[in-house]
Amino acid sequence: MAARPARMADTGVMTRTHTAAAPAVTLAGQRIELLDRARVYACGITPYDVTHLGHAATFTWVDTLGRALRFLGVEPEVCRNVTDVDDVLDAAAGRAGAAYDTFAAVQQFQFDRDMAALNVRSPEHEPRAHRYVEQVIRLAAGLLDTGAAYARDGSVYLRGGDVASRAGLDRAAALRLSHEFAGRPADPAKDDPLDVAVWQVSEPGHPAWDSPWGPGRPGWHAECAAMAMSVFGPAVDVHAGGADLRYPHHAYHAAMAEAFTGVRPYARAWLHVGTVTIDGAKMAKSAGNLVLLDELLAGHPAAVVRLMILDRPWAESCDYHPGLLTAAQARLDGLYRAAARTEPGEPAALAELARLLAIDLDVPAALDLAIDSGGGPARTLAAVLGLS
Ligand SMILES: [Zn+2]
Repeated sequence: MAARPARMADTGVMTRTHTAAAPAVTLAGQRIELLDRARVYACGITPYDVTHLGHAATFTWVDTLGRALRFLGVEPEVCRNVTDVDDVLDAAAGRAGAAYDTFAAVQQFQFDRDMAALNVRSPEHEPRAHRYVEQVIRLAAGLLDTGAAYARDGSVYLRGGDVASRAGLDRAAALRLSHEFAGRPADPAKDDPLDVAVWQVSEPGHPAWDSPWGPGRPGWHAECAAMAMSVFGPAVDVHAGGADLRYPHHAYHAAMAEAFTGVRPYARAWLHVGTVTIDGAKMAKSAGNLVLLDELLAGHPAAVVRLMILDRPWAESCDYHPGLLTAAQARLDGLYRAAARTEPGEPAALAELARLLAIDLDVPAALDLAIDSGGGPARTLAAVLGLS
């Protein structure tokens, strides 16, 4: 249908040109139509350590998804949780001689400071796991009611035998990942090693809450499922997080939510941001190869770090080396020079910019277009990408 300007009857003010087509975005081949807002759930940090480039990449892409949605006429509502009930966090707090919640709050403050320095907008919702223990208990009770879970020895386990196959994994790969992500596949209380704890019986030295099954604490996937459903209801438009969370975390989160509500799919689309590696190896404190965000920002403007993250397909893993920052600086200079030009043909270029961002957040192509077009499209893209 042809675009037709609309005139507001009483003021004579022209509203923006529009078509009858609903805004839509495509992520990893999944197209979702949107009306006026989009619910975006992002798996947030476990606040026990410094912010590194992997965190920065994930949350810069989530931020950019929100900015792109707003450019397309859809208001994003972002929920980024804080996983402050966690074994690794407990251990780190214990080493620091601090209570887990005090330790988490301090780490969280530093993370928020890092995100602000990177020009990542604050999420609309920031639930903390320790405030959602009651909701996890309700989730566990609901899963027991439907038969999707069973209670044993003080824990409640989701039956997870089919979760791996629905995620496209064979059993051996699923067991390997379960072990890697502390899923306790060898727990003798489980019917199947691929079952996961919705509620975990407490062990000495860990925080514990009362429950119908005795003292315990939420399972990791159940925390996120309870927070997402508490904030957004049974489903979200986009669920985002690092690609390494695809299995088991996201797969079990979705399985719990779907078993509890009966609403499928839990997520209409997924934004699995590619892993950042160093010389091909995953960044890890134990490997001593962390690239820290505050060190990058000490030597480079935030816009350069953002553009280094964004000027590539979001789903692909990225092997970091300092040359990427040099290339990002040159690309940013090109965008800024283009933004200073005055060029004709802006409406067509802006429409093309919207199309490129709507299809898989194609930032590299959008940058090529904006630098080539100059003027308004370049200024618009700089704003949409948080570079201005
Ligand atoms: Zn999560």
